[in-house]
Amino acid sequence: MSSISDETIRIYNTFTKKEEELQLGKEVRMYVCGITAYDYSHIGHARSAVVFDTFRRFLEYTGRKVIYVQNFTDVDDKIIRRAVSEGRTQKEVAEEFIQKYLEDMERLNVRRADFHPKVTENIEEIIQAVKKIIEKGYAYEVEGENGRDVYFHVPSFPEYGRLSGMSIEELDRHRIEPDPRKKDVKDFALWKSAKDEDLKAEAVFDSPWGPGRPGWHIECSVLATKHLGAPFDIHGGGKDLIFPHHENERAQSYALFEVEPVKYWMHNDFVTIKGEKMSKSLGNIVKIRDVLEKYDGEVIRYFLLSAHYRSPLDFRDDALERAKKSYESLRNALENLDMEVAAIKTFGIEGERRDFPDFEEKFRDAMRDDFNTPKALAVIHEMAGRINQIVSEGASLETFEMLFSIYRRICSVMGFFESYRRIPALQEYRELIEEREMARRERDFDRADEIRDRLREERIILIDTPRGTRWKVIGGS
Ligand SMILES: [Zn+2]
Repeated sequence: MSSISDETIRIYNTFTKKEEELQLGKEVRMYVCGITAYDYSHIGHARSAVVFDTFRRFLEYTGRKVIYVQNFTDVDDKIIRRAVSEGRTQKEVAEEFIQKYLEDMERLNVRRADFHPKVTENIEEIIQAVKKIIEKGYAYEVEGENGRDVYFHVPSFPEYGRLSGMSIEELDRHRIEPDPRKKDVKDFALWKSAKDEDLKAEAVFDSPWGPGRPGWHIECSVLATKHLGAPFDIHGGGKDLIFPHHENERAQSYALFEVEPVKYWMHNDFVTIKGEKMSKSLGNIVKIRDVLEKYDGEVIRYFLLSAHYRSPLDFRDDALERAKKSYESLRNALENLDMEVAAIKTFGIEGERRDFPDFEEKFRDAMRDDFNTPKALAVIHEMAGRINQIVSEGASLETFEMLFSIYRRICSVMGFFESYRRIPALQEYRELIEEREMARRERDFDRADEIRDRLREERIILIDTPRGTRWKVIGGS
């Protein structure tokens, strides 16, 4: 018997520059670069988090177990700068913004990773990795301010540049600060000796090279392989990380394990703000927190999934408003369906069995096609339209329950309706609701309103539809 997990999933691999059929086992090992915790996270961070959270949910939906790792960079130049200017320690600043990030993610229904390793909790592992890279001849030490620096020697890894697809000349141009201590302009730091600012922010660790701290890139090589081994299946991140971060990560991991460390590299495109790149200098950084003031987390999720992950996505008010309307129409279909089920269970009157297309298969086909979430959303809308139609025409309880479970299942892959609570059948109020319908027919509106008010006290809101009275429960979802 063929199962969902046998269906092929095609994904664009940044490394091979083409779409590939994923070769995955029952267990998928996945790493996504996390934030550098020096400020509130912005809508670009939200996009990467939501895209990969949704991909993780989809893989789980196909019957696979996903081991998901996302790091926190909790020691870095920007964190230290902020700490020094505010008279705090690096740890205080990082912990604050890690906490804020996790709060934002919870409101976006982004599930926690299985592991959220931090750099400062893995210093010993990082030191061992740097030592090993030196021993293997891929890195060298030079004198620094309060100890020694360690650099990865890029020409020792001839494959360097293959992930980003850059030529040596292009790569050379990217290095703007020549350092006479470096053997090659492309060489990058694995370990940085302590500077005065680092000491002030208490961002200094003992090492064989004296007091200092890790360079940025080495953490991801160490933290990914610590939890996932080498090679692992999927490495995700925003496309701004391809160079230099992921190019360097690949070089380091290759030096450590002498295997191609990652099977599939996936990168999502940027969020632009009214057509412009988001940047500090333009002052147009949109914090997740500020968007959450105006829109529900699931509406923001809808917006972020409304473009293909490899296309740019433009953030503007009208686009958010559109996302809100679309999302609400999907939610209304769920509620209509659920109200109908509750009414059938209460009154015991149902219609015929109805057929409908295999929306779930269509949904999967969209998701298997390079994770085409806009196409998948279109399928969900098509299903919502059919649900509303069948609700207005009537059907059997079995038909409605089947529609409900399929719809709920595919929506939950997108991270929608997480907190939805089902509308209960109201057998104990059946007579009262029937009495009210009778009163309305006889134009006894006082009696009808009296019953409506009484049920309202029980937090039940009555809704009159062409097919009879339905209800919602306040605080029920
Ligand atoms: Zn990383």
